[in-house]
Amino acid sequence: MDLQAPVQFVKGVGPQRAAALEKAGVRTTEDLLLRFPLRYEDRRSFARVADLQPGMRVSVSGEIVVAGLRRARRMTLYEIRLDDGSGKLKVLWFNQPYLRDVLEKGRRVALYGPVERDAPGSRLLAMRSPQYELLDAEDTPGIHTGRIVPVYEKLGPLTAKPLRRVLTGLAEKVPPDLADPLPGELRDRLRVLSRGEALRRVHLPGENEDVELLNRFRGPGHVRLVLEELFLFQLGLARRRQDLRAQRKGRAFDVTDRTREVVKRILPFPLTQAQKRVLREIADDLRSGHPMNRLVQGDVGSGKTLVALLAMVIALENGYQAAFMAPTEILAEQHFLTFRRLLARCSYETRLLTSAVKGRERKEALGQIASGEARIVVGTHALIQQRVEFSRLGLAVIDEQHRFGVLQREGLRKKGYDVDVLVMTATPIPRTLALTAYGDLDVSVVDEKPPGRSPIRTVRRAASARREVVRLVRREAEAGRQAYVVYPLVEESEKLEDVRAATEAAEEWRAALPGVSVGLLHGRMRSAEKEEVMAAFAAGTLQVLVATTVIEVGVDVPNATVMVIEHAERFGLAQLHQLRGRVGRGPGTSTCVLLAHGRLSEVALARLEVMTATEDGFLIAEKDLEIRGPGDFFGTRQWGMPSFRVAHLVRDRDLLEPARREAFRLVAEHGEALPAPLPAFLEEGGWE
Ligand code: ADP
Ligand code: MG
Repeated sequence: MDLQAPVQFVKGVGPQRAAALEKAGVRTTEDLLLRFPLRYEDRRSFARVADLQPGMRVSVSGEIVVAGLRRARRMTLYEIRLDDGSGKLKVLWFNQPYLRDVLEKGRRVALYGPVERDAPGSRLLAMRSPQYELLDAEDTPGIHTGRIVPVYEKLGPLTAKPLRRVLTGLAEKVPPDLADPLPGELRDRLRVLSRGEALRRVHLPGENEDVELLNRFRGPGHVRLVLEELFLFQLGLARRRQDLRAQRKGRAFDVTDRTREVVKRILPFPLTQAQKRVLREIADDLRSGHPMNRLVQGDVGSGKTLVALLAMVIALENGYQAAFMAPTEILAEQHFLTFRRLLARCSYETRLLTSAVKGRERKEALGQIASGEARIVVGTHALIQQRVEFSRLGLAVIDEQHRFGVLQREGLRKKGYDVDVLVMTATPIPRTLALTAYGDLDVSVVDEKPPGRSPIRTVRRAASARREVVRLVRREAEAGRQAYVVYPLVEESEKLEDVRAATEAAEEWRAALPGVSVGLLHGRMRSAEKEEVMAAFAAGTLQVLVATTVIEVGVDVPNATVMVIEHAERFGLAQLHQLRGRVGRGPGTSTCVLLAHGRLSEVALARLEVMTATEDGFLIAEKDLEIRGPGDFFGTRQWGMPSFRVAHLVRDRDLLEPARREAFRLVAEHGEALPAPLPAFLEEGGWE
C-alpha cells in the first residue's frame, strides 16, 4: 500500500471528490487515514425490541415486515415495522423517499439510534431517522452497526456515513507491517503498536476495545500515532539543538574577579536564590564553548531584567557588545533608563534605538553601534533591521519573547557571529507548550519573587460599582500611592475611536478625582509625549495613569497599588495576569479591580473567576490553555508552532514528555549517525 498515493485512488473517492478533499487538506491516502474519528459509538450488541425503553440509544436488527411511503404536505415519510422475533418496532425517516428502494419489505436490516415515544404520552415506541444497514448475510460484519462504530466529522464532500464506508474499507487494507519510522526497540519500550496496526485500529476498533478510552483518544491506535508525531517533532528539535551546540564558536567568556566586582557595584539589592541560580546557569553557558540558547521563564515581577543585565555585564567585560530587544517603545525606553541608572557608576556607553530615534540622533547611534563605542544597545525590533550593524555583538537578550517570532530571534542572532542568545518571557507557558514551542532552548525558571511583595487582592465588580472604585483610587492617592486604569485596546491596531474613548475616560476620572493628577497614555501619542507621561508617573507627579494596554508588559512603578481594568471581560487571561502584575511591587497592599461590563459570556466569566482565584502565573496559563486550546493560546504562527496532524497539545500533553525523552535519548546515543529524514515542518524554512 502506498500511503503517499493521491487520495483519488482510494476506493469510494475518485477524481471529483479528491479535488474537494484536497481543499479540506487531504491530498494523500495517508492524510485520509490520519483523520481520527470524532468519537466512537458502542453498537456492538443488539437490543431486543421487547426490552426497549424511551431514551435508550441502541442497535436493533430484524426483518422489515411492513414498509410504506407517505406524502404529507411538503414532506415525505418512509415508515417501516421491524420485527426481531421479540416484538415489532415502528421506524420513520423523513424526506428520504429513495429508502423505498433500499429498505424493502422482507429485507434484514440493522438500525442504530435513539428510541422515543411515538407521540408524547403514547406507549408505542418508535425510532426516528436511525442509522441503517442492510444485513444481506448473517455473517457480514456491519460497517455502521454491530460493532464499535467510528463517527466522523464531515470532510469536504464526504458526510459521516460515506466517509465511514471509505475509511473502513481503506483501513482493512492497511498491512500491519507497513513501513514504520519508529524503531522496533523504541516501540517495545513504549509498548505501542506498529504503524500499520495503529492506522487500522483507529478506524476499525477491535471487538473488545474500551469505548471510553477510544473516546478520550487513548485507544492503542491513537496513542501510537500521536506519540509518533510528537516524537518526530521532538527529534527535530533535539537535532537542531545538537547542531547549534556543535557550532564551535571558538570563544568562551571569562567570568573574572573584576566582573564579579562590577556586578557587586551594580546590584541595587541582593539577588533572590532563584535569580542567583538562573544567573549561574547563564554564566555556565557563556563560559562554555557553545553558543547559548536559553529561555528564562519567570512570572511577572520575578526580576528577570536584573539577571539579563548581569549577563550583559559578563559580555561587556569580555570586550563584546550586548543588545537588548523589547517589544514596545515604552518598554525599551524604560529598560534603557533602568540600565543607565544602574550602570551610572560604570563607564559603559548605553544607547537606545527605536523607530522613534530619528535623524541626526539615529545616525549617531548607528555610528556608535557600528564602531563598538555603544556597548549596550536597547531597542525594539528596529534593532534587527538591515541597516543596524554591530561591531562585536556577543550577547543578545530578547525580552518578552512571546511578542516576537522565531524569525526575530534568528534575526538578532545573525547580527553577531554565533551570538549568545537569552530569551525572556513572563508569559508563564505551561510546560507542555514550552517543550514544544521552545524545545530547542535550554530553560531556566525564576520561580521566586523578590522579598517584600505583598499579595494582591483581586475583585470582580460590575461597571455600576464604579463609585466604590473611585473611592478606592482616591483613598490610595491621598495615602501617596498611585493607580492605573486600563482600557482594552491593542496597541498595534489602536483606532482613533478607541483613543477617543480613553481620552474621554481620562476626563471622567479627572472630574471624579478633583485634586488628583490624572495622566493619559496611549499608543497614538508621540514617543516624546509617552516618555514624558511615563516619567511623570514613575516620579510620582502623576498619581493616576489612564492607559491603553501599552503598559501591559514590563512597566515597573512599585508605588502603584491599584490596577483598575475596564472591560475586563474583553481581555485574555494572559493579558489580565500581565496587567495585574503591574501592582503588588511594593510593600503596600495592592488591589486589582476587574470591571466587567454587561452580561458575561461563559468563557469571560471563567477567565475572571480564575483571576480572582489565583495569582499563580503557571496555574493561570494552564487554565488559559484549557479554556482556549493551544492554537488560540499561541495566537498566530508567530510562536513558530507547528500544526500537528494528529497530536493535540492540550489533549495529548501526557504523551509529550515520553516523546521528548525518547527523542533526546536517541540523539544523545546516536547523534550524527542518525538517518536524516526530518518531519517536513522542521526542514529549512518550515519553522516560521
Ligand atoms: P520581570 O521579571 O517581570 O521583568 P522586573 O525585572 O521588572 O520583573 O523586576 C520587577 C521589580 O523587582 C523591579 O522593580 C526590580 O527592581 C525588582 N527586583 C528585581 N530583583 C530584585 C531583588 N533581588 N530584590 C528586590 N527587588 C528586586
Ligand atoms: Mg520584564
